[in-house]
Amino acid sequence: MSKRKKIVDPEVRSNELREQIRKHEHAYYVLDRPEVSDAEFDALFLELRRLEDEHPELVTPDSPTQRVGGEASEQFAKVRHRSPMLSLQNAFDEDEIRAFDKRVRAVVGDKVTYCAELKIDGLAISLTYEKGRLKRAATRGDGTVGEDVTANIRTIRSVPLSITAVAGLPDVFEVRGEVYFPIAAFEKLNREIEAAGKPRFVNPRNTAAGSLRQIDPKVTGSRDLQTFMYMLDPAGPCKSQWEVLRTLEKMGFRVNKHRRRLASIDEVIKYHAEWQRKRHELEHEIDGIVVKVDKFDQQLELGFVARSPRWAIAFKYTPEQAETVVEEIDCYVGRTGVLTPVAHVKPVIVGGVTIRNITMHNEAQVNEKGVYVGARVVIHRAGDVIPEIVSVMEPKEGWRMPAKCPVCGGEVVREEPYIAHRCINPFCAAQRLERLRHFASRGALNIEGLGYATLTQVIEKGWVEDPSDLFRLSKEQVMELEGFADKSASNLIERIAESKRPPLGRLLYALGIPQVGEATADLLAAEFGSIDTLRSAAEEDLVRTEGVGPSMGKEIEQYFKGHGGELLTKLLSAGVEPQATEPVGEGPFTGKTFVFTGTLETMSRPDAEALVRRLGGKAASTVSAKTDYVVAGPAAGSKLEKAQKLKVAVLDEEQFLALVTK
Ligand code: NAD
Repeated sequence: MSKRKKIVDPEVRSNELREQIRKHEHAYYVLDRPEVSDAEFDALFLELRRLEDEHPELVTPDSPTQRVGGEASEQFAKVRHRSPMLSLQNAFDEDEIRAFDKRVRAVVGDKVTYCAELKIDGLAISLTYEKGRLKRAATRGDGTVGEDVTANIRTIRSVPLSITAVAGLPDVFEVRGEVYFPIAAFEKLNREIEAAGKPRFVNPRNTAAGSLRQIDPKVTGSRDLQTFMYMLDPAGPCKSQWEVLRTLEKMGFRVNKHRRRLASIDEVIKYHAEWQRKRHELEHEIDGIVVKVDKFDQQLELGFVARSPRWAIAFKYTPEQAETVVEEIDCYVGRTGVLTPVAHVKPVIVGGVTIRNITMHNEAQVNEKGVYVGARVVIHRAGDVIPEIVSVMEPKEGWRMPAKCPVCGGEVVREEPYIAHRCINPFCAAQRLERLRHFASRGALNIEGLGYATLTQVIEKGWVEDPSDLFRLSKEQVMELEGFADKSASNLIERIAESKRPPLGRLLYALGIPQVGEATADLLAAEFGSIDTLRSAAEEDLVRTEGVGPSMGKEIEQYFKGHGGELLTKLLSAGVEPQATEPVGEGPFTGKTFVFTGTLETMSRPDAEALVRRLGGKAASTVSAKTDYVVAGPAAGSKLEKAQKLKVAVLDEEQFLALVTK
């Protein structure tokens, strides 16, 4: 149990977020010198957006969620855009893109085609043409007023100074798109700048913005900037985004050839994944794909929200690595009192989710990595992988575990040879909660609906101290708890009652005997058959069980002699009746222990193990001198090697089946 979540006033927090976001936007858009990584910025923005969604009354008209990013710099003449240059809504994962599709269909019906384009990581630019000639170029600015950068834009070779006429377009029209820095040109620039002894530019996007907004257009001209155009206003003869892209091409603009018309959101998701894989093959950076409702009449129906069109969305790629800062390191106290360090970082979006906490193994690991409060770190998370700290900018050793338990204030010790630190107070509240949670968990007594929230309440009320008290809870008591009514309270009481006759192995696991996991618990149950014989067994009897060595044997014996024995007595008197595991039948495998490794072809591994048990044998998960047979299928790994080392008989599946049918 780590520290309780701080209660934050949403109004105070949203004001705080707005202020921070504004400061970062200024540094990013106006000064081209971001102070935080995009992942950190995106996390702040997402938090504000979610807070405002939950508390619409807190939205202020000048909130960053309501307006487009930057502001125009004083250095350039200001330009008022003919129509606002908007930003885009963002989707960071599949749920969000599906929600967008649903919102679109709710308005325009099911006949929607999307035009998907790459989202170029550059800056938006607006080009105004008059009678076929480039008249003015402007940055987006705050969306309403931008900066006049005409002289600078003229130096970019792919921007046509005069265009091929298209029937149906008025004399004055606007083309919008993106200016970006190709990666190779960016690397070249950095090599030159380094050779001149100056600091490297941070990223192509900000360097593109900085290059475009130079007082001296010659500097812009020397930078090899590039463009892709994607919007025509008014659209003249075009009836869809797809047609606009083709028309722009014909007019002589540079248009990205990677684009596709897609008939369903599933195809959009596939396209997004395809470019996630291939994005590094491109000569420029992309940070997602942009998905637009293709037909203009449908776009019109959908309209706009404050800062972005309702008919388009940026489906972003979030980095799998991001930089952030460690703000605090505290400890989580587990079921056995082990303290696990947790680094609380400034939230960042990595691999599509917001990361706030990173668990580390122990004090030694914190110091090996050199993590400390205030450290700038790179964190990694890919797919379902738990986030971890990959590197620390300026690593330092010296972080120490607290001397007292952060939850109960009890003594914390490190018992050699273990590397972990433990709170040794058996009455520690954190350990009690974790023990109860373990008791009710799926591999143990599997009492559905008895999670942390409910357990915390019954402990606070003083109704439950150890697992035996669960069986004395009444429906009336449960109804007093937050989140319960008549029916749900009856259900929980019923589920607790149903759990009273667990298989012996499950009860043993639920007790949380040190070192005894699910598999060993089952093996002990099979070996001893009843709780009475097991609780009075001595170490020398216990080690006869597969997988139980002398150290575990001693722990089990001591467990039942101490608190564990008392708890067991209380459980039995509360009516818990462990069910003797099916007596291991007499059969051809009596006295034989099998270990399965690799894949089996004719049956699953659990089925094979059950078969062994039915025929009187035992199925274990680790190979030792007590193992009689290792059954190895294709892709068998270290267990096979160990069997060969220990000279244990190795069978293939066919030989195993031959034994079964003998
Ligand atoms: P955005 O980048 O999320 O999306 C809008 C922009 O996408 C448009 O203005 C357009 O320029 C661009 N775009 C690229 N390809 C396009 C296409 N094919 N069709 C249409 N538009 C296309 O929005 P934003 O508000 O410009 O910028 C937000 C980004 O800036 C985020 O990635 C954020 O992390 C970053 N940012 C970072 C900081 C920081 O301090 N690190 C501060 C502010 C913003």
